[in-house]
Amino acid sequence: MNVFSHPEFDNHEHLSFFCDPETGLKAIVAVHNTSRGPALGGCRMFPYASDEEALRDVLRLSKGMTYKSALANLDLGGGKSVIIGDPRKHKTEALLEAMGKHLDGLGGQYIAAEDSGTSVADLKVMGRHTRHVAGIVERTGIDGRPCNGDPSPATAYGTFIGLKAAVKHKLGRDDLNGLKVAIQGIGNVGFRLAKHLAEAGAQLWVYDIHEDNMKRAVDELGAKPAAAEDILTLPVDVIAPCAMGAVLNDNSIPEIKASVIAGAANNLLERPDHDQALKDRGILYAPDYAINAGGIIDVFYERTFGSAEKSRAHVETIGDTLAEIFRRSDDSGRPTGAIANELAEERFKKHVARVSTLPERLARAG
Ligand code: NAD
Repeated sequence: MNVFSHPEFDNHEHLSFFCDPETGLKAIVAVHNTSRGPALGGCRMFPYASDEEALRDVLRLSKGMTYKSALANLDLGGGKSVIIGDPRKHKTEALLEAMGKHLDGLGGQYIAAEDSGTSVADLKVMGRHTRHVAGIVERTGIDGRPCNGDPSPATAYGTFIGLKAAVKHKLGRDDLNGLKVAIQGIGNVGFRLAKHLAEAGAQLWVYDIHEDNMKRAVDELGAKPAAAEDILTLPVDVIAPCAMGAVLNDNSIPEIKASVIAGAANNLLERPDHDQALKDRGILYAPDYAINAGGIIDVFYERTFGSAEKSRAHVETIGDTLAEIFRRSDDSGRPTGAIANELAEERFKKHVARVSTLPERLARAG
């Protein structure tokens, strides 16, 4: 298995391979870059088919976090961790505690948060042995309600703000009354996004593989149920993919009728060139890691003891960032995903010039 010559290796600052035979823990932590601050990113547990697959994922995802935090103007770097194993079969308290001990040994250069396969409760178990875990503090959420650390309400609110910015840019309208929106995936983020949209007067179509999730949106929000194969190609104004990645691809893009794509799921484009394919079809794509940054923003305020009001105000800047991406895309004729990467790199480089030492960077993020 190659590391330094791995295609996804991007001068990552640090990689750790953790093994604890007693608990079965096998994990990799990747710290991509700490120039803006400690690397914060999710701890994913997944039954990877090979070590190579796990390494590829952690290298790619940690770099993505550097870009996401820089674009969101956060004093955080990019990192991610992966635990190799099936969360339903191999996740035990002992394994999570072993992970916590290993994380503590990294001295705070990486801070773990929830990701697929791990929950707030799991991070709390890791937190018995380290303070370098996030998304676990019970406090007032950005919606003014009690929150257990789950970043989903902030992600949903940021996605709503970003969707409004996209609608304003593409359709020239400020209000969402009567706007037709199709949402794929009515989970933690999708349902909350649906609620914001329903409150703003939008008409909703929803699909989820779990019937009860879909029914909840139908019963509580007046949404219309849609079929799996139709949800992304309905004749609506906006599609909001909030389930899984790679749904914008050679099959779906030619069939999309909406003129705006604004959803929270990660890695929506199956290939980088699908960015241009959407632009060629005149569809405005709100880049995924720009629009779904609400969660990481809120976790940052948890770490730095910032108020719900400050967190909410920062989440609202997602609208400004997207407006700038859309403007630059129009001016240059280049697709929005490429512009988001360029803007993240600009914000990242500017910051690198200002910040110098690691202790200073650690202090900035608490
Ligand atoms: P979730 O698991 O709570 O919800 C996902 C929903 O999608 C579930 O209801 C699931 O049944 C449904 N689903 C799965 N496959 C589907 C399919 N093929 N078609 C339709 N529905 C399907 O997850 P979440 O926390 O709501 O996150 C949703 C997406 O947003 C994920 O891609 C996640 O990576 C991304 N995201 C989440 C956050 C956050 O704060 N939770 C932050 C950034 C990005």
